[in-house]
Amino acid sequence: HAKQKGNHYLFFNDSMNEQAVKRLQIENLMRYGLKEDHFVVYYQPKMNIKTGELVGMEALVRFITPKKGVISPGVFIPIAEETGQIIEIGEVVLDKACQDVKRWIDKGLFNGRVAVNLSAKQFSLPDLTTRIDIILQKNQLPSYFLELEITEGTVMDDPKEAISIMRSLSARGIHLAMDDFGTGYSSLAYLKQFPLNTLKVDKAFIDDMGNERGKNMVDSIVTIAHNLDLHVVAEGVENEVQLSILEELNCQTVQGYYYSKPLSSSEFEQFLKQHIPS
Ligand code: C2E
Ligand code: CA
Ligand code: CA
Ligand code: CA
Repeated sequence: HAKQKGNHYLFFNDSMNEQAVKRLQIENLMRYGLKEDHFVVYYQPKMNIKTGELVGMEALVRFITPKKGVISPGVFIPIAEETGQIIEIGEVVLDKACQDVKRWIDKGLFNGRVAVNLSAKQFSLPDLTTRIDIILQKNQLPSYFLELEITEGTVMDDPKEAISIMRSLSARGIHLAMDDFGTGYSSLAYLKQFPLNTLKVDKAFIDDMGNERGKNMVDSIVTIAHNLDLHVVAEGVENEVQLSILEELNCQTVQGYYYSKPLSSSEFEQFLKQHIPS
């Protein structure tokens, strides 16, 4: 028994070690990747259910390394959050998104908003608004074309402070979306105080609409959002069944593989050309 215990202890230690090594590897890859421009931005369309028209898109970061291939955001974002590298990565994403959207507007291909994810670390930077202003100005993009997606965790950490930060963003004409709604701690009392424009219903709720209770849940979320004058986006919509339930529940906008997976900037430009409103 003692030996078994010993082995177990050793195994535990090894795997912990392995994890720490892997994290350090990714941290180093990210530092190098920031220098060598290995972070690229993909775009996923947000579509109007009723008209099938494009209403906007979400910018999603991709980390493409020459040696390890594509590393998923699910793997590197949490590490980047911990090391603080997410601040620099987030600014690269914002800068590239603004540059792409400016080009698409100038070409007459697009006239809506690009949504960019904002991490908690970025959100709490004292000079956040200045940093955003600088990037918008650099790309000559009016703030009207920008939406920021913020999670519940980010704003519920210090809701009072969050409200004041959100107000200063909102005052610039930037739209704000509550991302992954319903998955974190969300306070309904605060929900009405946040200067939000959009509520994004998390994929987990969309996946669960097959049963009556799950459908009722989404129904309730959509109703709350509409009562607060918020726009609703359903994320992770993969099939026609989900689409028709969402239409029945009066959800206007959907995002998901049903319409398109996230696309590279040149692929998305093709998508735009096929979706120019006539
Ligand atoms: P998120 O903000 O909830 O983004 C939606 C995720 O769902 C994306 O994963 C997208 O590719 C995926 N998705 C969209 N439609 C479908 C669908 O129909 N089915 C399935 N199975 N998945 C779908 P992705 O790109 O891997 O990003 C994962 C998460 O990483 C994001 O979740 C977001 O939290 C974070 N992330 C991505 N890019 C950025 C960024 O630039 N900055 C920050 N701070 N976080 C980012
Ligand atoms: Ca998002
Ligand atoms: Ca989301
Ligand atoms: Ca999500």
